[in-house]
Amino acid sequence: MHGRNYIDGQWRNGGARLATTNPSDLDEIVGEYDQASVADAEDAIHAARRALPAWAAANIQLRGDMLRKVGDALYARAQDVGTLLAREEGKTLKEGIGEAVRAAQVFHYFAGETVRHPGQWYNSLRDGHNVIVSYEPVGVVAAITPWNFPIAIPAWKVAAALAYGNTVVLKPSEYAPGCAVLLAEMLEQAGVPNGVFNLLLGDGRSIGQTLIDGADAVTFTGATPTGRRILQMAAPTMTKVQLELGGKNPFIVLDDADLDVAVEAAAQGTWGQTGQRCTGSERIIVTKGIHDAFVERLVQTVSNYRVGHALDPQTEIGPVANQAQLDKNLGFINRARADGAELVAGGHVKEARTRGHFLAPTLFLNTTNAMELNREEIFGPVAGIIKVEDLDEAIAVARDCELALSSGIATTSLKSAERYRRASNAGMMTVNAPTAGVEYHVPFGGRAPSGFGGREQGAASAEFFTEIKTAYINHGVV
Ligand code: NDP
Repeated sequence: MHGRNYIDGQWRNGGARLATTNPSDLDEIVGEYDQASVADAEDAIHAARRALPAWAAANIQLRGDMLRKVGDALYARAQDVGTLLAREEGKTLKEGIGEAVRAAQVFHYFAGETVRHPGQWYNSLRDGHNVIVSYEPVGVVAAITPWNFPIAIPAWKVAAALAYGNTVVLKPSEYAPGCAVLLAEMLEQAGVPNGVFNLLLGDGRSIGQTLIDGADAVTFTGATPTGRRILQMAAPTMTKVQLELGGKNPFIVLDDADLDVAVEAAAQGTWGQTGQRCTGSERIIVTKGIHDAFVERLVQTVSNYRVGHALDPQTEIGPVANQAQLDKNLGFINRARADGAELVAGGHVKEARTRGHFLAPTLFLNTTNAMELNREEIFGPVAGIIKVEDLDEAIAVARDCELALSSGIATTSLKSAERYRRASNAGMMTVNAPTAGVEYHVPFGGRAPSGFGGREQGAASAEFFTEIKTAYINHGVV
């Protein structure tokens, strides 16, 4: 694939080209992408600003119909999108197609949101008056996205922004921009007017400030340190900021848990999608009565995973997405061993038919919450088990972490589940289900420093993508 920037309805060549390689086969170039310059970023922002008044005022049925067409195209091309995703990011083909289908569902949901999104009408304290609260587009939205969900995250930002009448400049990760190029093609084919959607490829650091200065709002998903930086960059212009950042998500297993359910939820939440999910479980907190039986079953499950080429139908866990992330994972593994954690599965790079970033799913025992392994987000197929006395200690350990995105508990006690639902400090929590695997029609996000500036997905996304107007009307009818 040769990916180009899409600005004001035109595909624009230029700039240095950046190549992506297949993490399952480092000898394969997947795509070459023209890097956007600062001038391209300025042009994209200006195009989005010019297109804003007409799009903000566009008929809501028309906006909805266009978004629905994009959803239809994503469904129709789910195999293509999923295959490209698997080749460029390393998810298994099943996971890649699943993500493409999710992006389609997101577009369909937000197609409906154009006509569903309500305002409010209030009686006034003053006779002969009433009060109308309406929601207006926030304006030009810059969307900056990471590599780990290269179609779903662009979809849930772009679909929401467009549904509420905003125009968009999307900057996907330089590691996996191919799906965003396909999305731009679909938006163009759906008839989205020039300038309403723009795509910039390449390095975020070189054009980030231009985007933040020129946009009315920036929605960012990525690493917590980058998010902090974005917030600082937005301070002088007071550009509205939404941040979806890292997680260090705890999954608690209580003595009364159903063992099958607990093992499945822990394994799926931790190693699914190669552990590269912000909502993935990285700390597994287990009470002492079930600890040994749970560990035995979990180690068996982890050790049996088939790791390999993302397009091989036998593969259950694809490669780590890129060299930098693999090096990061191995660094955490080495330091965890040095800290005294006991390696019971994985911990090493695996050989395969092709040269790729294959890391054996890794599990440590006898870890404490004070170890680096349990404090810093790893973002790979690596987790530690922390043994605790009881639910009280489990809750204390789960909460003892700066990040607060997702959390989970395995228990057959309704009372324990409800206690943890209240006690969890994360933005999302699950009972007898993996900490990862969210749905598009309900709010998604964490508390600071895992999230900032309002939730994404579902109707809650209106909080960020719209501005409130309160109108006091003296109509004179008493
Ligand atoms: P990064 O923060 O490295 O990058 C995210 C995006 O920001 C990329 O497009 C990157 O561009 C861009 N960027 C980097 N620096 C700047 C800058 N100074 N100005 C503007 N843009 C910039 O994250 P990763 O891509 O490595 O993604 C992994 C992280 O994302 C993990 O920490 C994970 O937890 C988090 N994440 C959070 C989710 C959530 O919803 N809470 C969901 C998924 C992931 P470039 O292309 O140049 O790298």
